[in-house]
Amino acid sequence: MNKVDYLRISLIDKCNFRCQYCMPNDSELDYILSEELLTKSELLILLQEVFIPLGFTKFRLTGGEPLLRADLIEIVHEISNLSETKDLSLTTNGYLLEEKAEGLFLAGLKRINISLDSLNSDTFDRIIGNNSKSRWQKTWSGILKAYEVGFNPLKLNVVIIPNVNDHEILDLAALTIDKNWHVRFIEFMPIGNSKLFAEKAWIPSVDIREKIKNKWGLQESFISGNGPADVFKIPHGKGTLGFISQMSECFCDRCNRIRLSADGWLRPCLLNETGQIDLKKALREGIKTEKIREKVAQLLLIKPDINFKERESGTNIYQRTMSQIGG
Ligand code: SAM
Ligand code: SF4
Repeated sequence: MNKVDYLRISLIDKCNFRCQYCMPNDSELDYILSEELLTKSELLILLQEVFIPLGFTKFRLTGGEPLLRADLIEIVHEISNLSETKDLSLTTNGYLLEEKAEGLFLAGLKRINISLDSLNSDTFDRIIGNNSKSRWQKTWSGILKAYEVGFNPLKLNVVIIPNVNDHEILDLAALTIDKNWHVRFIEFMPIGNSKLFAEKAWIPSVDIREKIKNKWGLQESFISGNGPADVFKIPHGKGTLGFISQMSECFCDRCNRIRLSADGWLRPCLLNETGQIDLKKALREGIKTEKIREKVAQLLLIKPDINFKERESGTNIYQRTMSQIGG
């Protein structure tokens, strides 16, 4: 059985973008009330008394947009200073990074993933929705700032949607030629905006890879913290290209991760909603952390079965969007 030692922690479900693929565009989302968010001290209790004793050593902070969380720097500082933490990373849309990259780095964060689906300002604004105007430049400046500050590896997450940004595959891949950046193409999943997914469908990684290979050729490569990505590089390129193919390939047997939502729900599998437990409720009801740990340990035991559940049916309806789960 694969060791599950990686916790993805959503710190907030709110976001300053409304990406087409992540949130539905035709209805308002109910955001979690601030008193329902796990507090910093609740999160640290869960890490120190539940997850770390169960062998968790790798943590990723995500959201929603984690840079909107007011106590983010303190959270980073506390987690990076836990002696058991082997790896701490963060996924952000980059919009607020220009101001916040340095503070995060000094607080102990060394690894970052920034989402960037387009190099074209208009396409970018269309993807991130919200009637956004000219947000690309500030996001790009945030990426440059993160690079300058010293984040390494610096990964760029790209979701390709047919007829939206598929014409930019080569331009996005080319970012890895001159810079030590790591572009990761993530297959579009039907979580968040199933209407768009039904309308546009998705492009398998293998097609994206072929397109890049036809242009430059590709060599197999490696990058730390690559998780389920297949990693390649353009010959003589400084960075790498990763392909995360959770739709076209099943890597459930290798899954080493579990997700904690901003309101404290522990979710064993991204692609179905089976087996979730409400850890915040347990904490706030005064249940001893030993008992909570036992429950989590039991969930970890049944996780391999949950991973495959309903995977083949393709009929899953997700109650939560990626922004609410913590992608
Ligand atoms: N707001 C941050 C950001 O955008 O990087 C962190 C949260 S976001 C939910 C985390 C990642 O999930 C992003 O890289 C985003 O591209 C990805 N994502 C969101 N919805 C997705 C979907 N339907 N299919 C594939 N990836 C998705
Ligand atoms: Fe916000 Fe990230 Fe979702 Fe885009 S992908 S709407 S930036 S949470």
